[in-house]
Order: sequence, then C-alpha cells, then structure tokens
Amino acid sequence: MRRVSIRQRLTAWYAAALLLALLLFGGAMSVALERRLVAGVTARLTLRLQGLASALEAEGEIHDRAQLATELSEFLRDNPDGGQLELRDMAGGSIGPAAPLAPVQRGRKFLTATRTLRCAGETFTAIASLPLDEASVILADFRGLLLWMIPAVLAVATVGGYWLSSRALKPVDEITSVARTIGVRNLSQRIPTPATGDELQRMAETWNAVLERLEAAVQRIRQFTSDASHELRTPLTLIRATADLALRREREPQEYRESLRQIAHEAEHMTALTESLLHLARADAGGLTVTLSAVDLNSLVKEVVEQHAAVAEAQGIELQARTDAHAAMAQADAEALRRVLLILVDNALKHTPAGGRVTVSAEGTVLTVEDTGAGIPAASLPHVFERFYRADEARGAGGGFGLGLAIAQSIAEAHGARITAESGTGVGSRFSLALRS
Ligand code: ADP
Repeated sequence: MRRVSIRQRLTAWYAAALLLALLLFGGAMSVALERRLVAGVTARLTLRLQGLASALEAEGEIHDRAQLATELSEFLRDNPDGGQLELRDMAGGSIGPAAPLAPVQRGRKFLTATRTLRCAGETFTAIASLPLDEASVILADFRGLLLWMIPAVLAVATVGGYWLSSRALKPVDEITSVARTIGVRNLSQRIPTPATGDELQRMAETWNAVLERLEAAVQRIRQFTSDASHELRTPLTLIRATADLALRREREPQEYRESLRQIAHEAEHMTALTESLLHLARADAGGLTVTLSAVDLNSLVKEVVEQHAAVAEAQGIELQARTDAHAAMAQADAEALRRVLLILVDNALKHTPAGGRVTVSAEGTVLTVEDTGAGIPAASLPHVFERFYRADEARGAGGGFGLGLAIAQSIAEAHGARITAESGTGVGSRFSLALRS
C-alpha cells in the first residue's frame, strides 16, 4: 500500500473539518432563514385577522348572517392578499360568500391562523391562510446556492490547504535530503537551519546537536583506535627486534634467555594494555556490570594500604590509611572499588617523591586518595580522565598507558558516581569518589 504523505493527510483532515463546518453553517443558516420567513407570514396572517376584526367592529351592529357575509366579501374585495379567509360558526358551517380562493395546488404549502370573533350574537372562528410559495422559493434558492457554494469553497480551500502545507513542510524535504547524504565519513556536515523560530528550526537544531555529539563520539573512537594501535606497536616492534637480533647468529643459552625474558616482559606489557582496552570497550558497550552489596569502606582502605605498604616503604613514602570513626558502608562492587583504589594509590605513589605522604581515607561514603607529590598542572587537570592522556609524558615519568584514570572513571560511572580531581603544580593531588550509602 502506498504511504500517504503528511501533506496529503493534513489536507484531507483540513478538508473534512471544513466540510463539516460548512455543512453545519449551511444547515443552521437554512433553518434560521426558514424560521424568519415563516415568522413573516405568521405576522401577516395575524394582521389580516386583526384587520377583519376591526372592519367588522367599525360596521357597528351587524344583525344577521347575510349582512355578515356581505361585510366579509367587502373586506375581501378591499384587502386582497392572495390568501384565503373564512368565517365558520360554532357548528362548522362556512359563512359565504367564499373568499376569492387561490387555486389550491398539490404540493403547495399554506400557513393558517385563527381568531375568535363575536358578531350578530354568535361566536365565529375566522380562519386565514397564506401560501408559503414565496418563502419556499427563497429557501430553495438559498439551498441551491449552498449546494454549489459548499463544493466550490471546499475545492478552493483544499487546494489552498495543500499548497500551504507543502510550503510549511518544504524545509522538512530539504532537511531530509541533506540528512540522507550524512554518513560517518562526513559527520561534520550540518543540516540547514531555517530561521523561522518554529518547530522546524528546533528540529534542525536538535539534529545538528545530535550530529555534533556523534561527530565528537566518532572522533573519540578514532583517536582511541589510533592511540591503541600506536601503543601496541611499540612492544610488538620491540619483540620483533629482540627476536630478530637473537636469531641473527648462534648465541649462548644465557643470551637466548635474556632475549626471551625481554620478550616476555613486552608481552606482559601488551597483555596489561589489551586488558585495559577490553575493559574500556566493554564499558563503552554498556557491558560493565557491577554487583552492588554493602561494602565496608574502612576495611577496603586498610587492605589497599597494606597491599602497597612495601612499595611505599621502598620509595621512602609515608602511606597511611585514615578510616572513619563510624562504620563507613556503601553500596558498591567491592572488587571494582578495590581496582579504583589500586589505580589511584598507584598513581599517587608514582608521582610522589621520597619523603612525601600518601593518604587513603574513607569518610562517610566518600573515598579519597591524597598525595603531597608533584601535582597536576591546571591545564592538564581537565584531561587526566581522558584515554591515553599523560600529563607528564614530556617529563618521561610514570610509564603508564594513560588509561588508569579512564578505567577508574568508567567503574565510578557504573556505580552512578564520578571521580573528581583537585590538584595544582607542586601542591599534591586529591582524587575523591562519592558513593551511595
Ligand atoms: P597513567 O597510566 O599514565 O598513570 P592515568 O590515567 O592513571 O594514566 O593518569 C593520567 C595522567 O594523570 C598521568 O599520566 C599523570 O600525568 C596524571 N596523574 C594521575 N594521578 C596523578 C597524581 N596523583 N599526581 C600527579 N599526576 C597524576
């Protein structure tokens, strides 16, 4: 079945509504006109009966029926009006002479009015009637006019309505044709925005905002793919170079062992990177599920600090746990949360020189990792959660992939929370995660 376009549907509804309105209008007008015409005839009848009563009264005493009949015919002769006038006595007998009756035809309509008269000692009923011919003709004319005016008005209005809806929907066609040409390759293209201040402008603007978000997302994915390939290429090159070098000539078993050790080290590096990438890919696909349960944040903090105690001591850093005096319970995934703390403590230890201090604390449902290290420059702070971002790359410190904080943030987001960072060059850093209780 062919789909009906919006403009056709709009026009059809408009025409149907207009037809109904015209029919109602025509019907109401024709009823009102008929009522008016009948009221006019009724008024004429009443006047005629009144005239007859006055004429008979003016004649003074009428003594018998013969005199009454004469008066009646005189009145009729003096006041002809194309209708009928008759006097009947109480027994129903007619008083002559008969009125000059208009020829009664089949199909003609008459309106009748009566009035009681006292005359010659008797009570009579005067019956006056007038044909409705004139009213019928006017009504028929009016209805005839309606009969061709309604379709004519309807036709003109429908054509106009179709033209108007086509005009109003023209920008939709333009938007559609541009939108059809937009794909992943030319996401920077934008839909023309009509400056009409109406729904269509809002729609075009909304689509452009969607395109902007899509473009940014695609750009991020492209950057991510390119960064990931780049990161993977370095260890792969190293593995190949080490293997090539070892195979170039016969070597001592110890040399082979050393080469294999280097290869294993690089492979380990690649495994860690691939796992981080997999984690982020899963998070992007919405597959990062956390199983929430009541987690004791005090014990978690203590565990993580104990786990890093040896590394901190070796680096000459004071690592301390500050736990809440009350039980600090939060709804969270204990393992995922431990991973976040490991990333944050690892970073803090990496960026704090000997003699510095790293504090891990739980306060209510807020976890904080604070250090007295190098800090993050203000220009880098907004980017530290981005994938592959390393604020200190130029300084050659660290040696991570720049994925740790992105992973920590994805875990926080899976908990419906966010990690916030406060820092500045030389003032240390403070990372906080507020969980739900
Ligand atoms: P990386 O694997 O390089 O540590 P992260 O995503 O964990 O990657 O961190 C991104 C960058 O943020 C780091 O390269 C580092 O420059 C900066 N950063 C993170 N934590 C700290 C910290 N505690 N002190 C100073 N700089 C930090």
